[in-house]
This record gives sequence, C-alpha cells and structure tokens, in this order.
Amino acid sequence: MCLRLGFSLLGLAGCCAPSDMGGGNGQKSKMARERNLEKQRAAAKGSQLETNKKAMNIQCKVCMQTFMCTTSEVKCKEHAEAKHPKSDLSACFPHLKK
Ligand SMILES: [Zn+2]
Repeated sequence: MCLRLGFSLLGLAGCCAPSDMGGGNGQKSKMARERNLEKQRAAAKGSQLETNKKAMNIQCKVCMQTFMCTTSEVKCKEHAEAKHPKSDLSACFPHLKK
C-alpha cells in the first residue's frame, strides 16, 4: 500500500516535471549569489590591503623605513638606537617627541 503510494507520487512528479524550470531558476540565483559573494570577498580583500597600507604610517625620517602604526615607542627607540645611534630619537620619529 505504502509502496504503491510512493510510486504514484514519484510518477506524478515525473510527468508534471515543474521541477526542471524551478531547478533552472534556482541554479541561476545560486550562481548570482556566488558571484556576489566573490565580489564581496574581493572588496574585503581590497579594503584589507588598503588598511594595511594605511597602517604603515610610522616612518623613520632618517632611513625612510616604514613601521606599522601599532609599533610601540619602545620598538621605535630600538630602531633609532640600533640604526641611527648618532641621531636623536625625535629625528627618526618626530611623532614621538612630546
Ligand atoms: Zn631608521
């Protein structure tokens, strides 16, 4: 009984076959969604690069080496002392002058 019901349901779906059109549309919107995702990912990547560039906003004025804005004053001092022992810290990193 149950088996026969199942078969007739399958046959019904097979002959009406509205699932083909629906499936096609579903495929299209799925592709569109994936394309959008790709775009979003690319945009996120771009802004990440932009952020990284902006983050490199500490520059040693003596050797023009750039540092992340998160570089601590201690690290800047270390750089100045190691690379430019004859220069003042503020000559390398004017922003550290208080
Ligand atoms: Zn330097």
